[in-house]
Amino acid sequence: MLCPNCGQPMQLVTRNNNSILHCANCGGSFFEENTINRISISTADKLAEDKHTDEISGKDKHCPKDHTLLTSIEPEESIPQDVTLLKCSSCKGIFIYPDDLVRLKRAQTVKIDYFKLWSKPLPSLASVLVLSLTAIVSVSLFAGYLLFQRQSLAPTQAEGAIQSLNLSKDQRYLFISFRTSQDYSSEIILTDTSVDPPLTIRKTIQEKPAKLHYLVSTDVNLSHKIYYQIRLSKPTGEDVPLPPPKELSVSSK
Ligand SMILES: [Zn+2]
Ligand SMILES: [Zn+2]
Repeated sequence: MLCPNCGQPMQLVTRNNNSILHCANCGGSFFEENTINRISISTADKLAEDKHTDEISGKDKHCPKDHTLLTSIEPEESIPQDVTLLKCSSCKGIFIYPDDLVRLKRAQTVKIDYFKLWSKPLPSLASVLVLSLTAIVSVSLFAGYLLFQRQSLAPTQAEGAIQSLNLSKDQRYLFISFRTSQDYSSEIILTDTSVDPPLTIRKTIQEKPAKLHYLVSTDVNLSHKIYYQIRLSKPTGEDVPLPPPKELSVSSK
């Protein structure tokens, strides 16, 4: 697969459990849908440093996977003005230049830290995450996001630690956010029981222990019957006992 910018072969690398196509010549990276939100700032720094030239070609750029013409995403709340993101309308992947990747991740981190510091809920996930469908990153989407379905939580240990659990969906996107009173790392286990045999997917929500947890997932078919469990781990690595699976009932916009 060739780099959209400089035409050199890209390498498939795994960072933070995500596969990324990276060009070691110009330093550009291609992320699958939503993956750009899941990598850490140090991963962004390392990817950005892995380059030989600073060339930026003025030619049309095409998706390394399906050759669709990449188009730039309009600046929006989650993308700093000076950052260019090129999106593939076919596979929803995103190509980004190395310096822009670092700027974007800094901006995301600073913003999330701000809300953590002030113990405020995020105004919307769109304010901090790059969602690859521009149409979805609209005001109307997050009007729907405000209609959170509050889950009544059984008093098991893990659930007792989870506060303000919000599950909502918009088309294919499942949004999960919650807080914990103490720092935990977290993952969600999603089981699709509408397929035979049932399909279980595990997704890291918060890799480093923190009090704020959020995830956007396109990994499950939201029209299916899905059960979920949230696993919390203490900073010591010790797991909080896993609560029983609950049926995922999400509010849509
Ligand atoms: Zn390149
Ligand atoms: Zn593509």
